[in-house]
Amino acid sequence: LFLSFEGVDGSGKSTQAALLAEYLRATGREVVLTREPGGSPGAEEIRKLVLEGSADRWSAEAELLLFTAARRDHVERLITPALARGAVVITDRFADSTRMYQGLAASGLRETVDRLHEMMIGIEPDRTFLIDMAPDRGLERALGRSGGEVRFESRGLELQERMRHGFLDLAAKTPGRIVVIDGDRPADAVASDIRSQLP
Ligand code: C5P
Repeated sequence: LFLSFEGVDGSGKSTQAALLAEYLRATGREVVLTREPGGSPGAEEIRKLVLEGSADRWSAEAELLLFTAARRDHVERLITPALARGAVVITDRFADSTRMYQGLAASGLRETVDRLHEMMIGIEPDRTFLIDMAPDRGLERALGRSGGEVRFESRGLELQERMRHGFLDLAAKTPGRIVVIDGDRPADAVASDIRSQLP
């Protein structure tokens, strides 16, 4: 079983991914909790290359290729082997983040993102929980806790707003896989909502 969490920065998706992992482990299942960008040693190296340093270090195209390389490594080394042995894989972000952040942030790349995904990645989660959150609330939370990785948060509220609507559009177009969860509630209410929507 392959599950992903998506949402704007500060939406609480990391907390929810961890809570779901804990819940599923308590049922006796092997759970691999991972994240993107990163999740394998090589991909974590790429995460540093992209997230640290100045915002104009990479062009939009180069950034897309770096994120795709990171995902390929993550899938090859961690996700596919875990799924093959029957583990539940929960990832905090996956390809939908690239569809939004690299596909929408720079104009004209959205189609390239899909083509690269098809060529190099190929797999999709069985279910994706989109934790929806008003961007001003999310950004507040993200800025409150960020240490060192302020690059993306510093793109500000307008980008968060575009990303939120992009995610909601994508969810509307992918109803079987992406489930929208109202993230602006106490964590335990959000968690029980997520558990009730497991495939
Ligand atoms: O989810 P997490 O906080 O670890 O993401 C780190 C940063 O990378 C976030 O600010 C997010 O907006 C950004 N990001 C991105 N493109 C992706 C994935 C994450 O710009 N494909």
